[in-house]
Amino acid sequence: SSAKHNETYTSTCCYCGVGCGVVVKKEKNGSISVEGDKNYPVNKGMLCSKGMNLHYTVNDKTDRLLYPQMRYNKSMPLKRVSWDDALDRTAAVFKTFIDKYGPESVAFYASGQCLTEEYYVVNKLIKGFIGSNNIDTNSRLCMSSAVAAYKMALGEDSVPLCYDDIELADLFLVTGANPAWCHPILWRRVEAHKAANPNVKIIVVDPRATDTCSVADLHLQINPGTDITLNHAIGRLLIENGDIDIEFIRNHAEGFEQYSKLVFQRTLSESAKICGVSEADLRLAAQYIGEAKGFITMWTMGLNQSSVGVNKNLSLINLNLITGHIGKPGSGPLSLTGQPNAMGGREVGGLANLLPAHRNLNNPLHREEVQKFWGGKPIDPKPGLTATEMFEALESGKLKAIWIMCTNPLTSLPNVRLAEAALKKAKFVVVQEVSNKPETLAYADVILPAAAWAEKEGTMTNSERRISYLNKVVDAPGEALPDAEIICRFARKMGFKGFDYKTPADIYAEHVRLTTKTNIDIGGLSHEVIKEQRSVQWPYKKKTKLGGTPRLFADKDFYTPSRKAIIHPVPDALNSEMPDKDYPFVLTTGRIRDQWHTMSKTGKVNKLNQHLSESFIEIHPEDAETLGLNEGDVTIITSRRGEVRIKAKITTTIKKGVVFIPMHWGKILGSDLNRANNVTSDALDPISKEPDFKFCAVNLQKF
Ligand code: SF4
Repeated sequence: SSAKHNETYTSTCCYCGVGCGVVVKKEKNGSISVEGDKNYPVNKGMLCSKGMNLHYTVNDKTDRLLYPQMRYNKSMPLKRVSWDDALDRTAAVFKTFIDKYGPESVAFYASGQCLTEEYYVVNKLIKGFIGSNNIDTNSRLCMSSAVAAYKMALGEDSVPLCYDDIELADLFLVTGANPAWCHPILWRRVEAHKAANPNVKIIVVDPRATDTCSVADLHLQINPGTDITLNHAIGRLLIENGDIDIEFIRNHAEGFEQYSKLVFQRTLSESAKICGVSEADLRLAAQYIGEAKGFITMWTMGLNQSSVGVNKNLSLINLNLITGHIGKPGSGPLSLTGQPNAMGGREVGGLANLLPAHRNLNNPLHREEVQKFWGGKPIDPKPGLTATEMFEALESGKLKAIWIMCTNPLTSLPNVRLAEAALKKAKFVVVQEVSNKPETLAYADVILPAAAWAEKEGTMTNSERRISYLNKVVDAPGEALPDAEIICRFARKMGFKGFDYKTPADIYAEHVRLTTKTNIDIGGLSHEVIKEQRSVQWPYKKKTKLGGTPRLFADKDFYTPSRKAIIHPVPDALNSEMPDKDYPFVLTTGRIRDQWHTMSKTGKVNKLNQHLSESFIEIHPEDAETLGLNEGDVTIITSRRGEVRIKAKITTTIKKGVVFIPMHWGKILGSDLNRANNVTSDALDPISKEPDFKFCAVNLQKF
């Protein structure tokens, strides 16, 4: 590298959707150190354990893939090849399949950790030039239920508020989330705000008593899957207590009448019984909401990852709508994005059912606009395969080739045994990866080494619509290349025009042009402007507005056709695999404090492995007694799909009849029995196609 020594760069943490700003220092020996950026509005210098240790993941290159590898059939070993050979062959194979079986025979499976520019080019490649919509990302497993609910309720996939509303709120309803561990810096802000203002109240809804509950005024330890019943019961109480905003409902919302009828169908005692909480606690929750001047709802995977995920989301957003707590400071629904750039990916249309700038695939005008802009093939109106559907299609032979970038499906997909069988059967697998650890690599015909965080430049958008620029600090090791560069080189090998960008800034400029006149218009943005302002919240139509748009809907003008918000009277039926005599327990999954997703980065950091060094299953003491299980006993967990063997952790923090396994662990030393997703269910929400990670029936046995 020609870079000088001891240089300082700004960037954004590449783990969770909080999107903390970091300052990266490059030392004389080329290694880097990371600290929180004191001038960044999100974290004001703070970092959580994961962010604080980011530099280890960059400095330690021992697990890195350094050059392209390839094999002609799966019984042969992978061999080092040149970039040209790897991409020429991949292009030849893709062309063969496309000619023989049509463009739907190939697919790209990407990630909420990709930069916006990377998402943009891969989306353009498949939708605009290959001619299929088979691009989906692991954001499907993460935020797609929230996306669908926002669209249905507000007319647009848009988080209405910003983090600065935290300090203006006096009530937080946190549901299906453990932000103390999973969105730590955002939660530090909530905690600090409450410490300084004792009148601030926190309600946590979770079948587990997590660390987040330690500062809660009220913990509603509901039965898993009963969120909609709970939200409806609270809605009913708010109506009964007269704690609704009649003016807002009358002038700015639709659907209240049906909603009101629906929530009165269950008595309070019935709802309390279904949810497994007391009537008094339901009343207290409604009382807190009724008293609040600023009311923020926060949620993440507990609502999203469900076969009724969209309905769960809508039932919660309804509470903001009936109380009019939206579009004003200190109020609104705040979905906590799991991944650092799931939102950026949606902005460029990087999912099987979207087009750039939140355009819709099913709108012929939108398709035409995008096709004209790209100058490629007509865009197929049929939605592509979503994350889990891709693997089903590989298994059935309908899909021939899959290109996996920046994600580790053989740990993270539900019912992962099926995904394994699918990759075994796949005709052609390309894995574009940073690390040599993911299990997926064992199935690759071509391995493409990718540059990691701090080794490439580009942008990301966090949970509050804040776009930031991530600097390149060091060179990637070996022959690894930035993901966007790999995709563009491949597109050129395919003979497609429009992929010869000089820099990521050029890619970004193209994305910006596609957003103009849409609801997410960032016409005033460029890499240059973001660098100048450090970060900007969309929309940002003109260059003049410093920092962009912190809040939406101050004018109560929603993006729906009627310009009103829509209260959806969603049924509270659960559509999950219910426990029975053979599988009597409900399994729920989640994260732990110091690991990130499938651990390919955080697993490299000794300090982070010390917190909880191996997987475990949380079991209530009464259940443990019935099963004859003692603390630390190896437990066999089986479901209709597979088996896990891990140690029992006996704790009263979990509800009786419910068990919990962390999602992070995959194959370790040849054994995959730590992997939670051996047993999870791949039932999908019918609208969002998000899987039911948080609910399936399992059986437990002492080993
Ligand atoms: Fe990174 Fe999230 Fe931790 Fe912030 S809270 S440092 S974005 S992992």
